[in-house]
Amino acid sequence: MSWSDISGHEKQKEFFRRAAVSGRVTHAYLFSGPPRVGKTTFALELAKFLNCQNPTERGSCGQCKNCRLIANLAHPDVSLLSSAGDYLKIDQIRNFTRWLNFKPVEGKIKVGIIKEAEKLTEEAANCLLKTLEEPPGESVIILITSQRASLLPTIISRCQLIEFSPLSYSEIYRHLVEEKGWEEEEARKVASLSPGSWAKAEEIKKGKGNLEDKFWELWNKLKDQSHPLLMGSWFYDNQEQLPLIITFLEQYLRDLWVWKVTEGQYADLLFFEKEKVEEEAERQEAETWKRLIILVDNLISDISGNLNRDIALCRFLFSWRGECNHASSSRN
Ligand SMILES: [Zn+2]
Repeated sequence: MSWSDISGHEKQKEFFRRAAVSGRVTHAYLFSGPPRVGKTTFALELAKFLNCQNPTERGSCGQCKNCRLIANLAHPDVSLLSSAGDYLKIDQIRNFTRWLNFKPVEGKIKVGIIKEAEKLTEEAANCLLKTLEEPPGESVIILITSQRASLLPTIISRCQLIEFSPLSYSEIYRHLVEEKGWEEEEARKVASLSPGSWAKAEEIKKGKGNLEDKFWELWNKLKDQSHPLLMGSWFYDNQEQLPLIITFLEQYLRDLWVWKVTEGQYADLLFFEKEKVEEEAERQEAETWKRLIILVDNLISDISGNLNRDIALCRFLFSWRGECNHASSSRN
């Protein structure tokens, strides 16, 4: 394993390469970004890089004793701390900081990684804060979080922030094929449905049949123009899977639009089977499909933002009806 084995995050790799070369590795980092984009894998690779006996431009060698022990989570100078249940408790942090205070025994520098740092209790956070204020020499602390807003500002201000962005389509595709061994066709489809993270890709693969069935239920309701106020209970019953079902809706609209615009020339680019797309695509003009895609995009950002979900859905359903009615009246 070296930097090149980690998909994406090129800026972050370059940052640490430079920091190591110029001796500017600091005592505490906060890795912040969406879940399952590879923050922990990156932190462990950094631990290897800093402790490797033969590091190069490309990262750690992956072969030396330090690299092998870290890969097996068995290195005495590298610790990966996770929550015990819902919280990271003060006893865990006390043990962690005590361990951090001893000099390295096998490696060059101690690396203490704390996953899900947002789960620190207030007591635990304050205990950790003391260590962040007076860090022991020859040590690096890496806090990892996908919910930075839930961390005490005093903790954030003591760490150098490293932001991890959602992964691109090609980064996810490559990861699914090369690391997870997925079939190329399946990886292509799932990667296009899961912008940003493996988490979504894996969830979609697990629930694919069921999610697709749910999506068709929703599609039929939208197509029949069920009254928005009558659709509330369906949304309520499916609220947990809703973000993924909506992703299917967006993908289907894209297929309809692509089919219409290209007059069916690019069937191999479709996510859904051709049979499910070709007839449906003719029901609206390309422009209308495009406007409906925008409505779904807006719904996705409303839901992922702070807007109340019921309000967002209501707005979406009324706009959807308006758009379809407008399209059919301009056809007549
Ligand atoms: Zn090595």
